[in-house]
Amino acid sequence: MAARPVVRVIGTGGTIATIAANRLDLTRYPETGHRIPIEESLARIPEVHDLAEVRSEDLMSEASSFIGPGQWPRIARRVNKAFREEPDVDGVVLTHGTGTMEETAYFLHLTVDSPKPVVMTGAMRPASALGTDADLNLYNAIRAAADPNAVGRGVMVAMNNQIHSGRDVSKTDPLHVETFKDNDMGLLGYVDPDGQVVFYRSTVRKHTTETPFVVERIGILPRVDIVSTYAGSDELLVEAVRRNRSAGLVLAGVGGGSGNAAATQTALDAIREGMTIVLASRTANGRVVMTPSKERQGFIVADNLLPHKARILLMLALTVTKNRGAIQQMFYDY
Ligand code: ASP
Repeated sequence: MAARPVVRVIGTGGTIATIAANRLDLTRYPETGHRIPIEESLARIPEVHDLAEVRSEDLMSEASSFIGPGQWPRIARRVNKAFREEPDVDGVVLTHGTGTMEETAYFLHLTVDSPKPVVMTGAMRPASALGTDADLNLYNAIRAAADPNAVGRGVMVAMNNQIHSGRDVSKTDPLHVETFKDNDMGLLGYVDPDGQVVFYRSTVRKHTTETPFVVERIGILPRVDIVSTYAGSDELLVEAVRRNRSAGLVLAGVGGGSGNAAATQTALDAIREGMTIVLASRTANGRVVMTPSKERQGFIVADNLLPHKARILLMLALTVTKNRGAIQQMFYDY
């Protein structure tokens, strides 16, 4: 047999690893189900050994609501270590709950120190469910990670036969399998049933090896909060963040980053006290653009990043600089 590609599969938990009380339980399993180790998930898809040499381990076993800034550096370090210490590894697959997958994906997209593919996957239906997507998504993610054409595209999410960029992807539906979308940006390609992994595009924004973020040096990430604007919202929540002395704040404005006048005044006070504030939008698409008054006031604009993605870039940016111009440039580059 010709040498098979080597894929390291790292488990972190989520629905893809969950066994519910019965085959029709598609909604209560987060409260009543139990999680299986990655070895058991892989044992359900023996076909995978025809296409890759698979090495596996569980890094953690959590619902994705328990995975965040406290875990991201550890996950990134583990991925970097795999590429550093196992040079024959062609790609890494990371299983993860779908709830915060897009956030872990963007953190890794900015911190993995290799052009080799990292493909995240999960499931919308527990592994025990009638019509589960757990097995096929895991199989397909391994196919994508083993594919030479996946190199250099940053961290990706492969779900439901589609491949998305970790920068642009988000979960858009709480229940259905066709949930991961890239809004205006579109998907990268397919992991198709005819055995083909097909790519149509790459993100042109910098990622992985092209960023200055060294996760090996990051201890605790700076705290960055998000406050959303809505009709009738006021300064209450911005004031809470200001008093907390968080390192940064993302304001998810209505439309082009605009918020309520009292909240904006409180945000300006926070900027004067040293907080870094990024204006994002609660709309799913399009850019928040710089204006002379936002510039004068000291705000940074998020470009087209969703507020929770802008938070991740700001956290990482603050590990290397507090310079507003330098951070703004990162929002244009990454
Ligand atoms: N509650 C789960 C999680 O995010 C949902 C999923 O895995 O799809 O971990």
